[in-house]
Amino acid sequence: MTTYDHDLFVIGAGSGGVRAARIAAGHGARVAIAEEYRVGGTCVIRGCVPKKLLVYGSHFAEDLVDARRFGWTIGEKGFDWPTLRDNVMAEVDRINGAYTETLTSHDVKLYHTRAELLDAHTIKLSAGADGLTAETTVTADKILIATGARPLVPDLPGAELGITSNEVFHLDRLPKSLAIAGGGYIANEFAGIFHELGVKVTLVNRGDTILRGYDQALRDRLLHISMAKGIRFVFNCDVRGFEKIDGGGVRALVDADDPVEAEMLLWAIGRRPNIEGLGLERAGVALNERHAIAVDAASKTNVDNIWAVGDVTDRIQLTPVAIREGHAFADSVFGNKVWTVDHDTVPSAVFSNPPIASVGMTEAQAKTKLGTVKVFTSDFRPMRNVLAGRNERSLYKLVVDSATDVVVGAHMIGPDAPEILQALAIAVKAKLTKAQFDETVALHPTMAEELVLMR
Ligand code: NDP
Repeated sequence: MTTYDHDLFVIGAGSGGVRAARIAAGHGARVAIAEEYRVGGTCVIRGCVPKKLLVYGSHFAEDLVDARRFGWTIGEKGFDWPTLRDNVMAEVDRINGAYTETLTSHDVKLYHTRAELLDAHTIKLSAGADGLTAETTVTADKILIATGARPLVPDLPGAELGITSNEVFHLDRLPKSLAIAGGGYIANEFAGIFHELGVKVTLVNRGDTILRGYDQALRDRLLHISMAKGIRFVFNCDVRGFEKIDGGGVRALVDADDPVEAEMLLWAIGRRPNIEGLGLERAGVALNERHAIAVDAASKTNVDNIWAVGDVTDRIQLTPVAIREGHAFADSVFGNKVWTVDHDTVPSAVFSNPPIASVGMTEAQAKTKLGTVKVFTSDFRPMRNVLAGRNERSLYKLVVDSATDVVVGAHMIGPDAPEILQALAIAVKAKLTKAQFDETVALHPTMAEELVLMR
């Protein structure tokens, strides 16, 4: 019988990889993990965590204005980007340390270096990091690829003048103006953050819609509120490239009457699986039509001893999904407890200003799939906004299957929508009926009570 250096070798110490390594080690497997950058992956290092902290930081701009209506006298206001940036990065360092500690306390061997497959059981570790003075090879019985994804930068003239979400957290100073290419999650989240921090923001979108996949009513509401705040949107914009302009900054080469110029350009046009240079061909691992690693419901590739989880498989590019896929893999393969991830009814949120949160089918999806649906909405001004004199309305929407009365979709835009939706997602996942929502007594006065008061 062949003996291997490790029972499991994980490539990539992000959300999915770390969870899989920890759980497999807990089941008694001898586990190693390789990470070429920082333990924690996109979510911890340059995604969800620092982004959410910037959302909190930017929101004070409005909170300080509103505070006056609540009787507070605010002295001279000022904002210092390096303070926010450095405090956020210090928190990232702390979580990075906690993730690393999790691995070591579970006896997972961590290689701080790049790994690539030489064949289905052999991994090459690059020299230069982690005390590896020379290129090293190790062997493993089973391999998990969890290398994540990276921001897409298009092949256009001047594309290199832009930055991506990888660099945006580290800016020396804030630009006066920012053009964001894209209209999805990252574009709308950073539009909200930078606008609040006093940057003039323009979103440049190839189509005529933002946040494809979300319920139309919520997208319309976010667009309306964002425009009212002063964020500029340029739709149906065929960008042929970018050029430098005198005095710094970039100009988009577009056929628009109004030029699109900004001091800084941020690419936010999607993320692509990290599949290059991994030796996938040598190990015989197949890709799918989206250039992601093709896997089955158990996250297994076409190669018998190789699995893949998270963004590199491009199923749903969300951290909790990657974590669950990694956990299911480790339990199933090393813990004698076989289960698979249900990719249906996964809640999601956009941390725009105000945020959006959603679970289940949109109205359009439900109509296509179920035929007749009932839609209940609550369009209201949160009481805090009323007193603050802020003319921003929230919108909650429930989509109900007419035949069964089951709530098949819940969609919200407004303050704290993601916090509220997490609990609501349990109800939708559990297939509760609208009648059961109605039987629940309201919790007054809250915004969330609207969810049980829609008639
Ligand atoms: P998204 O997929 O959310 O949005 C991409 C946007 O770019 C769309 O507006 C799309 O337009 C446009 N686009 C795509 N390709 C091109 C192109 N070649 N040229 C011009 N425009 C283009 O991508 P993001 O980069 O914002 O985020 C990547 C993923 O990361 C998200 O899908 C999400 O899964 C995850 N994420 C999740 C967050 C969260 O949970 N809050 C936060 C940030 C990221 P069109 O609609 O026409 O296709």
